[in-house]
Amino acid sequence: MSAFCCLNGHADVYPPIEMFSNNRFANAPFDLKVREPLKIVFYRLSIQSPRDIEREIAMTIFNLQERVAFITGGNGGIGLGMAKGLAAAGASIVIAGRDKTKGQSALSELRLLGAQAEFVDLDVLKEASCHQAVQDAVERFGRLDILVNNAGTTVRKQPEDLTAQDWHLVMDTNLTSAFLCSQAVYPHMVRAGGGKIINIGSMMSVFASSYATPYAASKGGIVQLARSMAVAWAKDNIQVNAILPGWVDTELTRKARVQVQGLHEKVLERTPAQRWGDPNDFAGIAVFLAAPASNFITGAAIAVDGGYSVQA
Ligand code: NDP
Repeated sequence: MSAFCCLNGHADVYPPIEMFSNNRFANAPFDLKVREPLKIVFYRLSIQSPRDIEREIAMTIFNLQERVAFITGGNGGIGLGMAKGLAAAGASIVIAGRDKTKGQSALSELRLLGAQAEFVDLDVLKEASCHQAVQDAVERFGRLDILVNNAGTTVRKQPEDLTAQDWHLVMDTNLTSAFLCSQAVYPHMVRAGGGKIINIGSMMSVFASSYATPYAASKGGIVQLARSMAVAWAKDNIQVNAILPGWVDTELTRKARVQVQGLHEKVLERTPAQRWGDPNDFAGIAVFLAAPASNFITGAAIAVDGGYSVQA
């Protein structure tokens, strides 16, 4: 069967297959710095039926087999929700965190999905630990393709009551850690021919709150960190993006509900979806930003918030 020009009207979504097929590949009029799996599937598509083509594209652009993902603080909450998505798409998972008991229970959940999963010790407050944990992951799996900078914390006080120690705890856990872990994975991603870095921001990357000064500063910073690294490392085929979660039911926000009166009701009122997010709501966006499907998306900050950020 000859090459197709577009897929049943999806020309706006997928590049023309003609450009990837056999003898025309050399003359393709745009930069073909896409990753190998995508090139191969487009080549193979030129000999398949349209229905097979759609099925194979859908599977391949979200396929994470042979990929290794490293998730800081992935032993619970949103990190584990993302880890489960990545595992379901075929990735091997490294849960990098402090709490081994939570880590073991996360590994059990991931292995039930059929994933290869390992725990490595990581305290993101220590630079040496960030480098060692990445090294341990590479020793276990031989490579590293996906980094999720997810570890986070907060101190809920009015700005005038914050100590310098509070400030450093939040900034170092949420922001400096993402810088250090990204630096640590960089040479491994370069060696692999590319990679994906996903920073976890917040609604506080955009909005503010009187009890979240260092948290909001760190979450604003993590978006700018993603953008800067996206620009710097595009030449290495590394895409760096940020996810901005709305209010999600986790350990972190269970504490907030106790400390901030009326928070639960305010979240429900402000969120058009009329519910709190669930960690599993982050499985899909994690797969998308880790997979070939998002190869031309870099420096983006994507809200996953049930509509919170667009409510007037
Ligand atoms: P959790 O408290 O469940 O997860 C936070 C994770 O960060 C925990 O696994 C924790 O590990 C880890 N962590 C904290 N400090 C360190 C450290 N020094 N070294 C290693 N790991 C550390 O909360 P969430 O799942 O809600 O939070 C995940 C991310 O999502 C955070 O960045 C948070 O700011 C962000 N976020 C959450 C929102 C929500 O509504 N829940 C909204 C917006 C953003 P340990 O168990 O060992 O303490």
